[in-house]
Amino acid sequence: MNVLIVGSTALDSIKTPKTQKTRLLGGSASHAAFAASFFSPVRMVGVVGEDFPKSSLRLYQKHRIDLQGLQIAPGKTFHWSGEYEVNMNNRRTLATELGVFETFTPRLPPSFQDTPFVLLANIAPALQLHVLDQMRRPRLVVADTMDLWLNIAMPDLLKLLRRVDGLVLNESEARQLAREDNLFRAAKKIRRLGPDFVIIKKGEHGAILSNRRGFFLSPAFPLEKVVDPTGAGDSFAGGMMGFLAGAKGPIEDNLPRAMIYGSIVASFCCEGFGVTATTRATRAGIEKRRRALEALTRF
Ligand code: AMP
Repeated sequence: MNVLIVGSTALDSIKTPKTQKTRLLGGSASHAAFAASFFSPVRMVGVVGEDFPKSSLRLYQKHRIDLQGLQIAPGKTFHWSGEYEVNMNNRRTLATELGVFETFTPRLPPSFQDTPFVLLANIAPALQLHVLDQMRRPRLVVADTMDLWLNIAMPDLLKLLRRVDGLVLNESEARQLAREDNLFRAAKKIRRLGPDFVIIKKGEHGAILSNRRGFFLSPAFPLEKVVDPTGAGDSFAGGMMGFLAGAKGPIEDNLPRAMIYGSIVASFCCEGFGVTATTRATRAGIEKRRRALEALTRF
């Protein structure tokens, strides 16, 4: 089945202790869309400026990402720049230039409105809500978010939580949203705000799922070399949604395995700048890592 992904489509400038790269294809929707495309056909909704490279449009198309919902607007593409500390975990945002995002209103082509699986990747919650308003009875809606929206758009975020099935967020965001340090309690508290399930991402330490059945702990794939972790969270969410859309049977039964696939795609993402390593990965390579991860965690 199809997955609809809305989020940011960006050009990123990234500084690591070793290297600096500018104008890399990025954004939450881009990372998530490439990740999901390994498992299911993807429809992307977003906006780019006139400066957006044609080669990036071709890369989406190569991965059969449907771009009917991608607007090309006068002005500059959203630009984000960030810098990593030596440990490659702590990240500082250096600049966020909204460009065409400043006036963006997501418009869904009629053919997108009945997409069964919807990933509201990180973007202002008001825009995520606007997309939901245009959907006709989706089967599964999962949202991602970030600390910025907890700080400046809490009323919209709370409204959104009442309308989604699942929420994906990282550990510091979960603690902030739930006002609770213990992540297991935090996840349960967030579920009381609306979503049936909550997934807390812990970077290289994996992710925790909380739903009515209890908890599931997904490991991260052990990587000895991280080149650029930007977009790993989006790749996790995209890979997970793509897998769910392609899987048979009840969503609840498939969620743990979907998280494992999300972790695997995220591991590829970290091995190159921007979307380079993700877009070079193959389904066979993903399966190889999935088998390795199963062997590493079986006891
Ligand atoms: P992640 O590393 O998973 O947190 O995602 C990083 C991606 O999020 C980058 O490619 C950025 O372009 C994008 N991003 C950064 N800040 C924002 C923002 N305020 N809204 C939407 N996307 C953003």
